[in-house]
Amino acid sequence: MMQDIIAVLPDSIANQIAAGEVIQRPASVVKELMENAVDAGATRIDLLIKDAGRTLIQVLDDGKGMSPLDARLCWERHATSKIRKTEDLFSIRSFGFRGEALASIAAVAQVEMKTRPQHTETATLVQVEGSDFKKQETVVAPYGTSISVKNLFFNIPARRNFLKSNAVEMKHIVDDFIRVALPNPQISFTLTHGDNELFRLPGGTQKKRISELLSVKETELFEGEELSSVADYRVFLGSPKLARKTRGDQYFILNGRFIKDPYLNHALVTVYKDYLPEDTFPTYVVFLDIDPSKVDINVHPTKTEVKFEDERILYQLLKSVVKKVLAQNHLGQFQSDIFDNTSFSGFLGNESKGPEFPTEPKVNVNPSYNPFHSDGQNQRQKKNLFHWESLYQGMESKEDRKAEEASSLLIPGIEKPAEKKARQEVFVSGQLLQVFNSYIVADRGQEFWVIDQEKAHQRVLFERICENIRHQQSASQQLLFPRVIELAAREAALMEDILEEIRHLGFDISSFGNQSFIINGVPAGADKTEARELLEGLLEEYKSSSGIDIHDKRTALARALARKSSIRKGKVLTAIEMTELLNDWINCEEPGVSPDGKITFLRYDEQNLSKLFNF
Ligand code: ADP
Ligand code: MG
Repeated sequence: MMQDIIAVLPDSIANQIAAGEVIQRPASVVKELMENAVDAGATRIDLLIKDAGRTLIQVLDDGKGMSPLDARLCWERHATSKIRKTEDLFSIRSFGFRGEALASIAAVAQVEMKTRPQHTETATLVQVEGSDFKKQETVVAPYGTSISVKNLFFNIPARRNFLKSNAVEMKHIVDDFIRVALPNPQISFTLTHGDNELFRLPGGTQKKRISELLSVKETELFEGEELSSVADYRVFLGSPKLARKTRGDQYFILNGRFIKDPYLNHALVTVYKDYLPEDTFPTYVVFLDIDPSKVDINVHPTKTEVKFEDERILYQLLKSVVKKVLAQNHLGQFQSDIFDNTSFSGFLGNESKGPEFPTEPKVNVNPSYNPFHSDGQNQRQKKNLFHWESLYQGMESKEDRKAEEASSLLIPGIEKPAEKKARQEVFVSGQLLQVFNSYIVADRGQEFWVIDQEKAHQRVLFERICENIRHQQSASQQLLFPRVIELAAREAALMEDILEEIRHLGFDISSFGNQSFIINGVPAGADKTEARELLEGLLEEYKSSSGIDIHDKRTALARALARKSSIRKGKVLTAIEMTELLNDWINCEEPGVSPDGKITFLRYDEQNLSKLFNF
C-alpha cells in the first residue's frame, strides 16, 4: 500500500513563510506597525528603536485601541477589521489589506501589546512569541495601542545574520518612518533611537511636514495642484537649488500611501530636466488621489508597486501640473508653446486633441482580480510550501553573493559601489526567457515584461560609473603589459583635455610624449584585452557629444564607457546571468530609460495582448 506523505503545515511554519515576504528587516516591522497606527486614527505616534531594531521596535499610538477579543484575534493570519467581503478589496481607500502583518511579525519575534479603546477602563496585555500565544491579562494603561517587538528573528538565525550594519538598518527605518509621516501631517510623530531623539514632528500643514522631514525651507517648495475627473494631483516641487547629486527625496503618495512609480517619475524628470544641471535629481513630493478601483495595488507583496488603469492620462496630467508650477515660479527659459494655461479637462474628454502620448503600451488593471483567489497569490503560496525551508537560505545566499563576489560578476561589468551592495531588491518574476539572444521576457504574474538586455545593462553600468565617479572610488585593474597608443594631433589634444576625467573612470593612463599615451590599467570589469579599443571608442563617443563643463564631460564619458562595456544584443545569457542582470537593473534609480534616454523595457498584460489580437 502506498503511504500518505502530504501533511498540512502547522500554522507556525506557514506564518514564518508568510513572514519571509512581509517582514524582511526591522524597517518592515516599523512600516506595518506605523501604518496600523495611522489606520487606527491616531493623532500621535511614537516610534522607539533600540539597536537599529534588533532588540526593540516599539510603536505607541493614541488610536482607537482593541477589545480584549480583538487583541487576541489580531495575531491570527488573515485577521483584519478592514475587509469583510470581496468588494471591500476594491473600495477601501487604502492599500491591500491582507491581515498578515501582525501574524507575520509574531512569527519571527517576541511581541508584547497593550491596548485600550478610549471608552473602556482597562487595557488588555497580550504576549506572543514565535506564533506561540503566551499570555493575556487585564492591565492598566493609557488608551490607544502600544506594541513592542523584541529580538526580531530570534528563532531564525539565518535571517538575523543576514541583517546589515546598524547604520544600514537604521537608514531603512528612517526611510520608512518618513514614508509614513510625510503624508500624515495632521498626526504628531516622534522617532527615538536609543537615547537620541531623531525626529519630533508636531501636527501642522503638509508643507511644513515636508519641510521638516526633508530639511528644506518652505520657501523652496513650490506648491500646485491639478484636479480632474480622473485624478487629483497635489505637488510640492523642490526648487532647482535643492537638486541633488543622488536621488533620494522623491516621493509619490497614492491615496495617502507611499509608492514607487518609475513611469510617473519619468514624467516629472522630463519636465524638470530643462531646469536642472545634468546628472542631478529633483526633490519632489507628489500626492495623487484616485478612485481606488482604478488602481491595482496588489502587484507587489510589499505594496509599493502599483498598476494604474489610466496610466497614460496620469502621465500627461502630471507633466502638465509640473510644467505649470515650475513655470509659475519663473524658472529657467520657459517656452510658451510647452505650456498651455487652459484647463486640462478638455483634453480628458477628447484624447485626439490632447498633447502627445508617451509611446509605452497601456497597462490596464484586471477588475476581477482578487488577491485572495488569484493565480499569482496561490502560486506564490504553493511555491513557498514546496520550498519552504530554502526560502531564507535563498535570500541569504543571494545577498552574500552580491556583497562578496561583486568583483567576480557573472556578467562583466563595472564594480558595484559599496553602498549599493547593501540596498538590493529582488526582481520578482517567474520564468525568464531570452529571445533573439537580445531580449529577456519575464513572467510577472499579472503581466509580462520584455527587457532589452543591452539597454538595461547600459543603465546598470552607467549608474555604477556615475556613482563611482561621485565617490572617487572607481577601481582599476592593472594590465600585465601596458599599452601605448598614438593619436593624431587633434585627438591627442582632446585626450589631454579629458585625461583627468578618464582617470576618474578608473583608467590608469598618462601622457607618454609625442602625442602618445600609456595605459597601465582599465576600469575594473572592463575588457582588458580591448584597452586600446575601449579608449579610442571613448574618445570617439566623447567627440560626438560636445562636452562643455566638467559635469557634462563626466556624464558623456560615463555614458560612453557604459555603452562600450555593456553586454550586446546577440549575447546568449544563462538563467543566472539574466537573474543577476534583472536584479541589478531593477535596483537602478532610473531603470526605465537607457543612458541615452531610450526605453529599456515594455510591459504587457492580458488586456494589451487581447487588444493586439483584436485590432
Ligand atoms: P491589516 O492592517 O491588513 O488589517 P494587520 O495584521 O496589520 O492587518 O492588523 C490586523 C488588525 O489588527 C487590523 O485590521 C486592526 O483591526 C487591528 N490593529 C492592528 N494594529 C492596531 C492599532 N495600532 N490600533 C488598533 N487596531 C489595530
Ligand atoms: Mg496592517
